[in-house]
Amino acid sequence: MNSVQPKPIPALYTVYILRSTVRHASLYIGSTPNPPRRLRQHNGDAQGGANRTSRKTLRPWEMVGLVSGFPSMVSALKFEWALTNSHLTAHIPSPSRLTVSTQRKANGQPRRPSASMASIISNLHLLLRVPSFSSWPLKLHFFVPEVYTTWQKWCTMSTERLRPSLPVVTDFERDAVLQQQQPASSVSSSVGEDIEMEQQQQTQVTPWGIHALPLDYKPMKEYVAKGHEIFEFEKEGNCVVCGEAVEADKGLHAICSNNRCEGVGHLSCWSRHLLAGEQQQDRDTSILPIEGQCPKCHGTVQWGDMMKELTLRLRGGKEVEKLLKTRRRRVAHKATAKATGKGRTKATETVKAKAAARGRKKAAKAMAESPRNVDGQEAGVVILD
Ligand SMILES: [Zn+2]
Ligand SMILES: [Zn+2]
Repeated sequence: MNSVQPKPIPALYTVYILRSTVRHASLYIGSTPNPPRRLRQHNGDAQGGANRTSRKTLRPWEMVGLVSGFPSMVSALKFEWALTNSHLTAHIPSPSRLTVSTQRKANGQPRRPSASMASIISNLHLLLRVPSFSSWPLKLHFFVPEVYTTWQKWCTMSTERLRPSLPVVTDFERDAVLQQQQPASSVSSSVGEDIEMEQQQQTQVTPWGIHALPLDYKPMKEYVAKGHEIFEFEKEGNCVVCGEAVEADKGLHAICSNNRCEGVGHLSCWSRHLLAGEQQQDRDTSILPIEGQCPKCHGTVQWGDMMKELTLRLRGGKEVEKLLKTRRRRVAHKATAKATGKGRTKATETVKAKAAARGRKKAAKAMAESPRNVDGQEAGVVILD
């Protein structure tokens, strides 16, 4: 029987590399669903920073790069643990280990060797290749040119290749400055509004780096609305892969992620179809697809996106309601929202932050108790028959 995680796939979950802007050799690895908030915590501008980053002489810290696309908090914690403890992790077979422990602690456990940027980058490269993690829909981001250069150097030196479909993106501050210099498109409005907009443009900095990452499901709004409509009005039709009827109350069904395409299919059919389309030499051990072509619209679909929509549809009642109601509520309460919106958002954030902190503690405790359970297989989101 198919089983799905009790919660929808989070909008964002990341494992990040933190670097002291004062002393570049001071590095820290962590995970979070909200990088901007987490950075404020590390810098002491919000409560809840880690002990190791509390030394005032090392602040401010910056996030120089991160991995996004984790299907759950637990999966991000596994990756974080493996990257932090690359001398121990079972994900890396001993012969390919780059970080080797040369010292032992009093209890006989190997001592964690101190991490350099080069060692973190090389271990990152390694972890993104191992079977436990390579089938997750991960994406690598770099926010500092010299760290990206270290990554590029390692890629050319390494004899092993990453899967070609792994997205590696850069977003540097310099790019953001260039964007700002471009003339802003004019919007016709009343004179008063024009002045207000001009003032805003002068003070507003184009978000870049961690501040440009989507923290919520908004980028998926159209997709979620489409899925909602298809199943609400029983427009499922036949499976785009096997051609047989899709019965809404039987099994799991995924929908094409491309705009205007209403291709629906049995989950197992989509999986089989996408896996068959992938280069087998590249992913011979995989049980989960990464991406492929929709048989109906022939556009590219990402398995990770499809699973996000599926888990939102099945398990994200509250999230979907919030996402699809936003526009209606905005129109209805435009005036009142202006007056009260700020306070409410802040309060919600605090509650959310507390809940997230509780969740992290719980998961970290579970991980600490059974580090041998860290096998990375469970987080493939949907386990097929
Ligand atoms: Zn089918
Ligand atoms: Zn399609």
